This record gives sequence, C-alpha cells and structure tokens, in this order.
Amino acid sequence: MNILIFGPNGSGKGTQGAIVQKKFGVPHIETGVIFRENISGGTELGIKAKGYIDKGELVPDEITVPMILNRLKEDDCKDGWLLDGFPRNLAQAEALYDALEKEGIKLDYVIEILLDRQTSKNRIMGRRLCANDNNHPNNIYIDAIKPAEKDGTAVCRVCGGELSARADDQDEGAIGKRHNIYYDTETGTTAAVNYFKERVTVIGVDGLPGVKEVSEELLEKLG
Ligand code: AMP
Repeated sequence: MNILIFGPNGSGKGTQGAIVQKKFGVPHIETGVIFRENISGGTELGIKAKGYIDKGELVPDEITVPMILNRLKEDDCKDGWLLDGFPRNLAQAEALYDALEKEGIKLDYVIEILLDRQTSKNRIMGRRLCANDNNHPNNIYIDAIKPAEKDGTAVCRVCGGELSARADDQDEGAIGKRHNIYYDTETGTTAAVNYFKERVTVIGVDGLPGVKEVSEELLEKLG
C-alpha cells in the first residue's frame, strides 16, 4: 500500500499518519523527521538543512527530492510506504509522480486533512515531541493527546518519555512561513495536492473534530 498524506502543519497529519501506518503496517516516512535525525546526528545533510528548517523555509529540492526517492528504494519500503511531508511543492509532486510512473509503482491513496490556518497555528504551538518515539503524539491543547504528568513534569502520554518542543514550532515567524508554503495554490503544497487531484482520487478529511473522530472518518473512507 503506497500512501501520501497531506495537511497543514499542525492539522494532526502526524497523529493520523501514525494510525494509518498501524492499519496498513507500512513504514511512516516523514521528511521532517529524517532532517531532524540528521541534524542531531551532525551529518553533512543535517548541517545543510538546519538553516532552512530553523527559518521555516523548505530545504532545496536538489537535496530533498533525491533523499526521499532513495529512501523509498530501501528494503522496508518494498511492500509499501506512507509518505508524510513530501511532496511539499508542485516541483516535488511532479518529481515524485514521474519517478513512480517510471518504476511502475501505483499510488493507492492520497489523503488530505483539511484545516484552517488559525487552528493549525494554535495546534502547532501546543505540540510536544516524545524522546522515545516520534509516533507518540502529545499536544498540550488537545485533550485526546494531552501529555501525562510525572513528579510535576509533563511526560509522554504513551510511554512516559521525556517531551520537548521544536524550536520552529514556537516561532510565529517560522510557522507563518510554513503555512504560506502549505496554503500556496500556485507552486506550494496546495498546488501539489491539486496536481494529484487531477490524476488520482484524493480522500479529503475534516481535521477540525477530535483525534478519534478524524481517524474514524479517515479509516472509514480508506475502507
Ligand atoms: P515538518 O516536520 O514536516 O514540519 O518539517 C520541518 C521542516 O523540514 C520544514 O519546515 C522544512 O524546512 C523541512 N522539510 C520537511 N519536508 C520538506 C520537503 N518535502 N521539502 C523541503 N523541506 C522540507
């Protein structure tokens, strides 16, 4: 099963992605996570990417596109993948679509989580990362995934792990830039979604209700 998931930053895309991943048992490939791992590992790729990420800008396509196309060729992707955070613009969408066509790989589902900009922004600022597992969503503003508490400190609601906030999630300027890219219908992420709408069926889900309601609607539509 080969799946793309779209949604503005803060729409619950990662949370729903983790649920979809469990349903289909495919690797959840998140561009942002790959970059952050490279940054903490001090790799050459991480050093190149950090400046862009801190400002909320896209890492250039020359770096991102081959990185993801190569990732999809790894062994764990043989039986499918869930791609999250890529494509992020029209050029990446075209590059991905062409590469899949060339390899004869079918896109089974394209998911779009719909959410307005202000709600997405609030949710971004409440988001917390689990040190143990990126698929353990926590958000101080969302009841269904509120962190747990241990000795007066907020800890991961799933495993009790340490939590942190991403620097780019607390910077309103960086959030604004990321959303400008997402909602851009000319060359940005919304343009990428529209590109797929012309080619495959895109499953739209309202991201406004709670985590459970959204995932129920999504899983029902996925059949
Ligand atoms: P995310 O974790 O998806 O919010 O991504 C964090 C940051 O990583 C973004 O703000 C970009 O700087 C970078 N990034 C993630 N995905 C892409 C992509 N497909 N193309 C370029 N840059 C990306």
